[in-house]
Amino acid sequence: MMVQPSDVKHDLNEAADVCVIGSGAGGGVFAGEMAEAGRSVILLEEGPHYTKEDFDQRSDDMLARLYGERGWAATEDLSVNILYAQCVGGSTVCYWADSFRTPPDRLELWTREFRLKGKSEEELRPHFEKVEKAINVHPAPPELFNNNNWLIKKGAEALGWQGEAVTQARKGCVGCGYAMEGCAYDAKQSMLVTYVPRASERGAKVFSSCRAERLSVEKGRAVGVEARLLDPQNKAPGHQVRVRARIVALAGGGVGSAVFLLRNGTANHHHQVGKNFYTNPGAMAWALFDQDVLMYRKIPAAYGIKQFRQVRVNERGEYVEGGYLLLPNQLQPAIAAAALPGFGEVHRRYMQNFPRVGGTYAILDDENTGEIVLDASGNPVFRYTVRGRDKLKTRDFLKKSASVLLAAGAREVLIPSSPPLLIRETREIPAIDSLSLAPGTMVFGGPHLLATCRRGEDITRCVTDSYGESHEIKNLFIVDGSSLPGSVSVDPSLTIMAFSSQTAQYVNEHWPMP
Ligand SMILES: Cc1cc2nc3c(=O)[nH]c(=O)nc-3n(C[C@H](O)[C@H](O)[C@H](O)COP(=O)(O)OP(=O)(O)OC[C@H]3O[C@@H](n4cnc5c(N)ncnc54)[C@H](O)[C@@H]3O)c2cc1C
Repeated sequence: MMVQPSDVKHDLNEAADVCVIGSGAGGGVFAGEMAEAGRSVILLEEGPHYTKEDFDQRSDDMLARLYGERGWAATEDLSVNILYAQCVGGSTVCYWADSFRTPPDRLELWTREFRLKGKSEEELRPHFEKVEKAINVHPAPPELFNNNNWLIKKGAEALGWQGEAVTQARKGCVGCGYAMEGCAYDAKQSMLVTYVPRASERGAKVFSSCRAERLSVEKGRAVGVEARLLDPQNKAPGHQVRVRARIVALAGGGVGSAVFLLRNGTANHHHQVGKNFYTNPGAMAWALFDQDVLMYRKIPAAYGIKQFRQVRVNERGEYVEGGYLLLPNQLQPAIAAAALPGFGEVHRRYMQNFPRVGGTYAILDDENTGEIVLDASGNPVFRYTVRGRDKLKTRDFLKKSASVLLAAGAREVLIPSSPPLLIRETREIPAIDSLSLAPGTMVFGGPHLLATCRRGEDITRCVTDSYGESHEIKNLFIVDGSSLPGSVSVDPSLTIMAFSSQTAQYVNEHWPMP
């Protein structure tokens, strides 16, 4: 059952087995699996409930309506654009739907470093299989490659690099190209059209435009949540919703979960909440071709290059290359105009020729983290700077991008630094090594907000245990990107969903139905 603020005429007292906060990748799966197991579920979602009719394919409208801070959230140094959605379905409503399993080497690293339990490939396999089936994960079919994908594939093959079709969570994709603006065809298999409606069909009560504000704790156990309905237009506070629950599952995302706990001043004995903030800061390279590219149609990253996912070092341990996925980029014109460098001749030339513009985007496996803190009004401040080896990775990504785009036949490559750097021949590529990448000299996108309440058995370094239960507050689970131990080195949504599914199974085994 979906409940809008206008359906509620007075303050409410509700009770359920499980109260889930947030309906994105983590919360959607958790609510769905709890409802499927026959538990009563209340799902609280701060953002409004939009449907395909609302997705008008205008980037300006959709950024403002779907994204936190209207799409303009940024790190304190203004270098990374922090991207997350606030609506039923969470950031999966805006995501590209690239769906990767966690690389086994990353599971091994986390298991070693954080003494994680239950995270071997074998233990997670059934959860990946279950989620992949539910959201129809399959390799992008050739007919949905756009010319940017084909060109980057051509360039990679000319250079002898390995690439492959990227697995996607879509069904009946028409290739309109508006993924970040919300899918107007319900083809992208976000939580909005999969797990959330399934939870609702199985009896879950989903409150949209309803912000969880206070965690209720008795004798060290979470026993419920106090939430506030908000006007979907202007967020003006309305009636209160008080929920009593045996289990509270926090899934507000890398930003929302940390903010909720910091505002509550709880589950933070060792001051780890908000720390270890990863963003996977993605740089971009642009290129002008003599043929139509139409990067803004079909699947954004139908094809991807994984060859540089892991860092390669020399015998002295010095960085050589890698530490990112190299993907084709896709931005609609209005967003591209904001991401291209500044003003003037170069900017005008690229926008005038936008149908012939292609480019790349990095999923950068960052290792130098930041933190989320609250300002005096309780709003999040993102302290994060691209630095250290992450700069080397960025420069390497830009150089590899220039190589692949030139090999694909680009007339010129634009590195969007300030001032912009134009590269027309491979011998000019080393100029990228002299870019400072200091704050304000390049735009990075930060769509993967992770590990601000990370998991692990070491209570001094981790906020929850291996299965997501808070080390301090019993019956409080954290099941979203905030509770991953770190960067996944690929897009994280499938990992978040599989971890959430595993926690659902754990809860079902340890908290039998009364
Ligand atoms: C433009 C873009 C493209 C992306 N592309 C990909 C991709 O191709 N592949 C991939 O794997 N990942 C992609 N991602 C990242 C992916 O979408 C996120 O990593 C994932 O959705 C995070 O899941 P989550 O559950 O942690 O949080 P979210 O999905 O962000 O959900 C959190 C939800 O909690 C709600 N919430 C927060 N606080 C409260 C509160 N106090 N009360 C009630 N509700 C609250 C929020 O409103 C939000 O709806 C992309 C992200 C963006 C922005």
